[in-house]
Amino acid sequence: MREIERLRELSFEMGPIRPPSEGGSFSLLIRVTRNCPWSRCKFCYGILYNRERFQVRSLEEIKRDIDAAKEISDILAALARKFGGFSRVASLIDPYLLYGKNLAELDESELKNFQSIVNVFNWVISGGRTVFLQDADSLILPTEKLVEVLVYLRQAFPGLRRITSYARAKSLARRTLEELRELRAAGLSRLHVGLESGDDEVLKYVDKGVTSQEIILAGRRAKDAGFELSLYWMPGLGGRAMTRQHAVNTAKVLNEVNPDFVRTRRFIPRRGTPLYEEWKSGAFQLLSPHEELREIRMMIENLEITGRVCFDHYINPAYKTGYGYSWLFKQDYEGYKFPDEKPKVLEIIDYGLRLDEALYVRAEDLIDKPL
Ligand code: SF4
Repeated sequence: MREIERLRELSFEMGPIRPPSEGGSFSLLIRVTRNCPWSRCKFCYGILYNRERFQVRSLEEIKRDIDAAKEISDILAALARKFGGFSRVASLIDPYLLYGKNLAELDESELKNFQSIVNVFNWVISGGRTVFLQDADSLILPTEKLVEVLVYLRQAFPGLRRITSYARAKSLARRTLEELRELRAAGLSRLHVGLESGDDEVLKYVDKGVTSQEIILAGRRAKDAGFELSLYWMPGLGGRAMTRQHAVNTAKVLNEVNPDFVRTRRFIPRRGTPLYEEWKSGAFQLLSPHEELREIRMMIENLEITGRVCFDHYINPAYKTGYGYSWLFKQDYEGYKFPDEKPKVLEIIDYGLRLDEALYVRAEDLIDKPL
């Protein structure tokens, strides 16, 4: 079939990660840079990107990818019309049917082609409304270039409602309010920023490369420009030694910024990172599950925001039950509305503190689990 032949020729490049809240809504993935320009944070070290060198992709490359995604979506729509719906098209997206091989047997270019088709298909059947720009810091691009990408993207897909990206607070702080407004007007609508901690000692210790004041400035400016802002914090990142200041100062920074979403990602020492080595050598002490909960409680007690607090990742506190594992907090992307649901979150933590600590999944248990 002519359409299938053409589908087999179309691919675009995708980076390795996206926030779960973007994966869950099946965003179309458009890679504008490769890897992380910093790769120094001691808890991450760019291992998610295999510590590969940061690269800025050319406008031509990015536009070629957008064109490929557009053509794939047009072909899928044509096939859906021909066969009576996308559920029928789903059965065509099969490695054996496309290449006569199992998924595990595909070569690099076949795999890239297959993943591109799957990404576009999932995106189309979930409404084709959202795009996530990869990789770790799209705001490092010159404003004019990013605006050109956004305009091109919206011309290709006029039905888009949301375009989102990761941004380092440092890069965000370097943008003027006018530049951010320009990006917002061009269609970039939501930013995901790793705050990790609001405490300067913790930030310095983990080599985040940014201060709490820069994060406040960046966050406020993003809000002023009209962005929807998600800030991520990492319970346990200050270890036992800095738990109190980590909790209290994180709440302070969040209160100053008042982001739309506070997303919680518990600290897990990952192999290949400097903090893993420090933990192994005894220089860094992980919090126990109850200590983590007390730290989260301290942060929440001090939190005075009007956004939502989320625990939308499986690494957050969970305990063993007779049937498997149960997560203490709900895992959805909308979380708990503050201030209304703050008492509820505190009650959940108090319930968690009454459970036997031995029932909990410890940070150490998650070291080799995928992110
Ligand atoms: S900026 Fe983000 S991706 Fe880069 S090293 Fe730090 S945490 Fe990792």
